[in-house]
Amino acid sequence: MADAAALTHSPRVTGLFMDFDGTLAEIVSEPSKAGPLEGIPETLEELGRSFGVVALVSGRTAAELVGWFGNEVELWGLYGAERSVAGEITLAEDVAPYASLMRRVAAEAKERLQATGIDGLLVEDKGVMVGLHWRRADDVGAAGRIVTGVAGDLAERHGIEQSPGKLALELRPPVEWSKGDVVRRRAGEEGLRAAAFVGDDYGDLTAFDALDELAQSGVATVRVGVASSEMPEELKRRAEIELAGPPAVLEWLRSLLAAIPR
Ligand SMILES: [Mg+2]
Repeated sequence: MADAAALTHSPRVTGLFMDFDGTLAEIVSEPSKAGPLEGIPETLEELGRSFGVVALVSGRTAAELVGWFGNEVELWGLYGAERSVAGEITLAEDVAPYASLMRRVAAEAKERLQATGIDGLLVEDKGVMVGLHWRRADDVGAAGRIVTGVAGDLAERHGIEQSPGKLALELRPPVEWSKGDVVRRRAGEEGLRAAAFVGDDYGDLTAFDALDELAQSGVATVRVGVASSEMPEELKRRAEIELAGPPAVLEWLRSLLAAIPR
């Protein structure tokens, strides 16, 4: 384990990787209404001028992130399956062939969830992934069980995978990829000697795994967890630094900026 000071003494060979929702943006009941906390885009842009890598790795589509951030911030959408370079978005080759299947899954999920008669369920069609959300349901416990049952059935019938989220889950093609792959890949490409990941949800645990591997080869790593009432227990346990929410993340990012040698 390294402390945050390890991130600022050689910024050119340091990577700062972050999740978006719940980390840089408050969680809202309708994902399309979210936005980064005020001050975050400017702070990241400034960090990006000094650090080797400043990257967002989100479950959202890259297209949703592009408008909010400047050129110094790398954008990875769909857990790393999409990468945005100078506004041009590319989809990973092994994921792209599943687009039509996943579109059918999204349509079927909409029908099936509508048929449950439960208010407040949301199907988010992300092209090659489908998000199912029950945050707005009156009884989130019951809604979660029903949506999880439908998702399990869809996954089995279509031969696809699912992964958990906060009051949400995600249906995805049967191809292995994760936020952790982005951390591994960029650390290798840039020869990073220090790296941190800041996240709040289940999908961020793969990035913690990647940091732990990098630490084995001598990279200074910092696992940062963003707390909430829905914080996954494993994330809380593994976080070396725990921040109280997006405002605390902003303060922490500003403290990194202030600590960069000039
Ligand atoms: Mg998140």
